[in-house]
Amino acid sequence: MARIDEQLQAANSNMDRSRLTTLTASNNASVLRLKFLTPLVAAIVLLVLTAAISLFYFESDSKSHGLLQERMTRTQRAAQEFYSHNVIYDANALHAIMDTLKYDDRLTEIFASYDRTALFKYTKKLFESLNSDYNVTHFYFIKPDRVNLLRVHTPGRYGDRIDRVTTLRAEESGDITYGVELGILGTLTLRVVSPWHDSQTGKLIGYIELGMEIDHIVSRISEVFGLDAFVMINKNVLNHEAWEAGMKALGRETLWDQFKNVVQSAEIPREIPEVLKEWIKSDENEYKNQVIPFEYKGASYRFLSIPVKDVIGRDVAQIILLNDVSVETGAARRTSMVVGAAVLGIGGLLIALFSWQAGRIGRRIGDDAKMLYQIATRDVLTGLYTRRAFDDFLSTEISRSSRYSHSASLLLIDIDHFKSINDDYGHQVGDMVLHEIGKRLQNVARNENYICRYGGEEIVIILPEADQNSAEYCANRLKKEIGGRAFDIVNNQSITVTVSIGIATYPAHADTGASLVAAADKALYKAKASGRNCICTYVLE
Ligand code: GH3
Ligand code: MG
Ligand code: MG
Repeated sequence: MARIDEQLQAANSNMDRSRLTTLTASNNASVLRLKFLTPLVAAIVLLVLTAAISLFYFESDSKSHGLLQERMTRTQRAAQEFYSHNVIYDANALHAIMDTLKYDDRLTEIFASYDRTALFKYTKKLFESLNSDYNVTHFYFIKPDRVNLLRVHTPGRYGDRIDRVTTLRAEESGDITYGVELGILGTLTLRVVSPWHDSQTGKLIGYIELGMEIDHIVSRISEVFGLDAFVMINKNVLNHEAWEAGMKALGRETLWDQFKNVVQSAEIPREIPEVLKEWIKSDENEYKNQVIPFEYKGASYRFLSIPVKDVIGRDVAQIILLNDVSVETGAARRTSMVVGAAVLGIGGLLIALFSWQAGRIGRRIGDDAKMLYQIATRDVLTGLYTRRAFDDFLSTEISRSSRYSHSASLLLIDIDHFKSINDDYGHQVGDMVLHEIGKRLQNVARNENYICRYGGEEIVIILPEADQNSAEYCANRLKKEIGGRAFDIVNNQSITVTVSIGIATYPAHADTGASLVAAADKALYKAKASGRNCICTYVLE
């Protein structure tokens, strides 16, 4: 190694020592592995992290979906309880009102007289205040035979027999009765019916009935829960003809066929939103599910259904609460998009990193290959082509010359008494001289000539397209360049070095590369034999 370093220094060639050192390093498998493995391990760690984060978000997304469903179920239950409690609360309120009325002896007295006009006059104001303060919408006086004596709320209608369940039950039980009853127009009314007796005789005067349409409860639910509410009545508990006739009498649109199983209650006739219409049309299962997810025009909904039972326990209607949860589900979608974009971004960065690293390594390999070529073809000491490169050049040049019928010549140069230079001045000086000769030859020879170190202190030059004359001319110039100027060596000394040159020309003297070299060698031998420092051309025998 030390010797190679010395030679390199002496050669002062265009070889870059640091590159050579790097080449040795980059050939080192562990270094290469490190260079590839470091980003690869980093990539894998990043991918695993990204996957973990995505999974985490996916988890929390599905969790948030689960939470949403759970929250909706709780809201549905709360709304259902709120409805039942309100019905009970209102029934209790009506009950209390009824109890208060019982202390009104004047009222009992007028009721007992069955004087409709006097009764209306007496109760009109009372009804107005009950209506505004307690949402009481119905106020009846019914005779013991259930014939209606007075509807304070619609005094023009009377004389009909009341056959509603609440009245019948009050009659049967002789006690106060309450319950939600479905009207022919699908109105839902909470009714409290109380038998009315003469406080002295205990004789039944009739029944007093107070009623409230449940629309105010629906409005309360809507307000408290902040959700749009719609009351849909099951068609199977309605009389189609009576309903149609009633709606016509009210001057309302009859939309019996709008949906298969339900109609909107006439109580709160409101424009049904498109999404609810679509859902009702798409869902024929009569609201069995109480929290129903529904996607419509890119928005996400949860419909909450509160079943409404009438006084005899029939499922008569549903209060449907509309809940647009697009913001919540959209947040989950946005999160997924952000995670997706992050994964893509990281992936892009990784690809960029790898392609950058691959580019660097590729360039390094290219440089190394170039340098390896130099090492293989250039002699370290002289910077001239190697013997191996010479063999390639020669065979190429011979086939080219043969193809184009050109001449090509060889100059075989041998330094005279080189051994004595080594002996007299040392091997290092010998090296310096060899290097200097290489430089001089390169300066003088043409670009297209191949100057090669043939071995030891012998140099061979291929002169493409050169015949014998131009080869001799060239040999003379080279000989002069070497022998005409002394070589400076150590301690300000200088020495004169001469060379002997043998010339052979293709195809005049030989028809193959090997025979051309042999011919040039013979000519060189002749030059040496002729006393050295001279040029000899091969002569055919
Ligand atoms: P001549 O050719 O004139 O007959 O005599 P010579 O002394 O030059 O011939 P010979 O072939 O006997 O010796 C060649 C010498 O060149 C022997 C060897 O030590 C020397 N030599 C060969 N390669 C190198 C080299 O790389 N560096 C040095 N310093 N010497 C070298
Ligand atoms: Mg020799
Ligand atoms: Mg020699």
